Amino acid sequence: MTPSEPFRAPASPTQSPGGGIGRGAEPPSAAILEVRNLVKHFPLGGGRVFGGMAGLVRAVDGVSFWIRKGETLGLVGESGCGKTTTGRCILQLERPTSGEVIFEGRDLTRLSPAEFRPLRRKIQVIFQDPYSSLNPRMTVGQIIAEPMAVHGIVPDRQARKARVPELLSRVGILPSLADRYPHELSGGQRQRIGVARALAMEPSLIVCDEPVSALDVSIQAQIINLLEDLQAEFHLTYLFVAHDLSVVRHISDRVAVMYLGKIVELADRQALYEDPLHPYTKALLSAVPIPDPALEATRERVVLKGEVPSALSPPSGCAFHPRCPIAVDECKRVVPELREIRPGHRAACILA
Ligand code: SF4
Repeated sequence: MTPSEPFRAPASPTQSPGGGIGRGAEPPSAAILEVRNLVKHFPLGGGRVFGGMAGLVRAVDGVSFWIRKGETLGLVGESGCGKTTTGRCILQLERPTSGEVIFEGRDLTRLSPAEFRPLRRKIQVIFQDPYSSLNPRMTVGQIIAEPMAVHGIVPDRQARKARVPELLSRVGILPSLADRYPHELSGGQRQRIGVARALAMEPSLIVCDEPVSALDVSIQAQIINLLEDLQAEFHLTYLFVAHDLSVVRHISDRVAVMYLGKIVELADRQALYEDPLHPYTKALLSAVPIPDPALEATRERVVLKGEVPSALSPPSGCAFHPRCPIAVDECKRVVPELREIRPGHRAACILA
């Protein structure tokens, strides 16, 4: 592996697991996760003012999607769009305000902590900042072995000790680094430890929350390629949360675009990148540089007006209307539904 390892070319749609082409709104029988009408509102200031609510931050506002076993769904959007909160609700790190999170046929939102515990190990997370997510007082070996002991994955101490170097090798870390502490490792090495720790739990679903955005571009490609290899080997399913559309393109089978707490477009990767339907997706894609200098010279940028509005008081109708370059009067009144415009390609725009 070289420091300048490139992103691999995305697999063709016919090679992607399940493909998703031609699918409608109904989840397929192979769906491992289904999120139905998920809502997460945070009371502003944590409570009430003079007997009334001070305000509600509508972080996630009615999000629905499913993920098929073995596929990667990219969840993309600008900072504050609700993508990380969606991931945290799936992980049950946040209790949703309403909606369902159905994992392997059970609604996680209805389970008590004791009922959820055996499922916890099956849903793992890889965080954005590997440094803050690793205990600085534990060695690499302890970081990987501890959750295996807590969840009884490998109850025998000696067997656990033997498993650590196997996992380290699998993520491209020399087993001799098992006695090191996180501060002695580079950012890329730390993220590999985060991957090994998740893998140690033998999960079926991993929420990857901006796993490469804190890393150099050359290291990003290595981590993405590693995640792809592990997915193929262990038949893992990923929810890949990111703000960077070019990173998501490399790893996702399907992509959902979020804006102010809602999904505004959801499609197979190829359809979304080559023929986006929502004006917001078009604007985001127009900002992605093209590696070919000739094409890059002809790239037309769609510059959006203003900033993302506050989730505390989202605009009426289509929340994107104050920034939308093609908005009409009706957009201020009608909340567009996420509807299937082409087979498997859904968008929330009255003009799509
Ligand atoms: Fe733009 Fe209107 Fe479509 Fe919203 S509904 S994206 S404002 S055209």
